[in-house]
Amino acid sequence: MSCSSSSASEEEDEDMDSYRKGGYHAVRIGDSFASGRFLAQRKLGWGQFSTVWLAYDTQTSKYVALKIQKSAPEFVQAALHEIEILSAIVENDPKNEKCVVQLVDHFKHRGPNGQHSCMVLEFLGDSILHLIRYNRYKGLNLIKVREICRCILIGLDYLHRELGIIHTDLKPENILLLSTINPSKDPIRSKMTPILERSEASLKGEVAVNAIEKKLKQRAKRAVAKIAAERRGAIGAVAKPERCLDGIDFRCKIVDLGNACWANKPIAEEIQTRQYRAPEVILQSGYSFPVDMWSFACTAFELATGEMMFAPKPGQGFSEDEDHLALMMELLGKIPRKVAIGGLRSKDYFDRHGDLKRIRRLKYSSISRLLVDKFKFQETDAREFAEFLNPILDFAPDKRPTAQQCLRHPWLRQAAAKTVA
Ligand code: ADP
Ligand code: MG
Repeated sequence: MSCSSSSASEEEDEDMDSYRKGGYHAVRIGDSFASGRFLAQRKLGWGQFSTVWLAYDTQTSKYVALKIQKSAPEFVQAALHEIEILSAIVENDPKNEKCVVQLVDHFKHRGPNGQHSCMVLEFLGDSILHLIRYNRYKGLNLIKVREICRCILIGLDYLHRELGIIHTDLKPENILLLSTINPSKDPIRSKMTPILERSEASLKGEVAVNAIEKKLKQRAKRAVAKIAAERRGAIGAVAKPERCLDGIDFRCKIVDLGNACWANKPIAEEIQTRQYRAPEVILQSGYSFPVDMWSFACTAFELATGEMMFAPKPGQGFSEDEDHLALMMELLGKIPRKVAIGGLRSKDYFDRHGDLKRIRRLKYSSISRLLVDKFKFQETDAREFAEFLNPILDFAPDKRPTAQQCLRHPWLRQAAAKTVA
């Protein structure tokens, strides 16, 4: 099973063709699960493997996220693995303070498309990717970036040091705020009344809602296209006033352990979503916890600038991998020869001197230069942030600091002092 998930949130809805035998389970508002314990309230999101629903837990009177896996054997297998990992996470964090999503329960649900593994997770809010978009790709204030970084690092330190788990797909989409950006979308803050049954009225209402949804869909598609254009800089997003971020709770948690693995039992060779992929994964030199640290640094950069750190594309005479390696070197310096030639795939990209075979002229820069020149950071901010990021982006994985070491870095500690003051 491929471990590199596509960016689900780039598309609005899950693939409707996947509602078939072996695929997604169709859910209607008010549907009940686990002998009536959980009642579906509305859809929260979806991934390649599952749809995720806001559900009301009638036993505890709390809201939860119900992740309903596709039913084909490979998805059942993947869910079993995810449940094993999630169980270790919840068992070792009784105080719920480690910034990783908690599993509440799990069960099987039989439906027309087969038997679906279901995971009951604590309800969380919008993803950090959503937050970046909401902020119109402008880059968040560094105080907020630090707060988010601290949560991610607490989560990574827990996964790595205490549990021996590598996440392998860390990215803004897989980090969720504890609550929603819009308070009316949070069932607790909005004092939502739970829907307790699938009444006639609610079904009729649903039909009407579906019709409206269809109409809105085209409009939404256009909006998505516009956002993409803004991201490319085609439309003057800069002219729009900044959106207010006051009142947003920036605490967050790591989610989607679907691709996670025990460090002593790595599963897949090709891990991580492209833009957040570490060089040792591209070169196939073996990997461990430092791959998550690389993805963390890419995520921190994106939070602070609104732009991905590396967005490689294939070109004439070179592949996406080669472009990716070239972009890394342009920003971080040359890959040391020993590292460059040390992977199973090194010969595909590098000559014996450790130079890229097909991309010759590199335009060297640095993180701090880029932050000042392109993103208009103040010199001091740029230098301090670059000093934090650069070691985490060491080409040699074992030279990268651990999450625990990063948590002690002055850049984060300075934030703690400021926040308390
Ligand atoms: P998949 O393994 O199928 O990719 P994910 O675990 O990534 O599934 O979940 C899919 C989407 O569901 C997420 O991107 C997010 O929007 C939403 N989601 C997942 N877990 C939660 C949660 N605990 N609370 C709220 N929304 C969630
Ligand atoms: Mg996912």
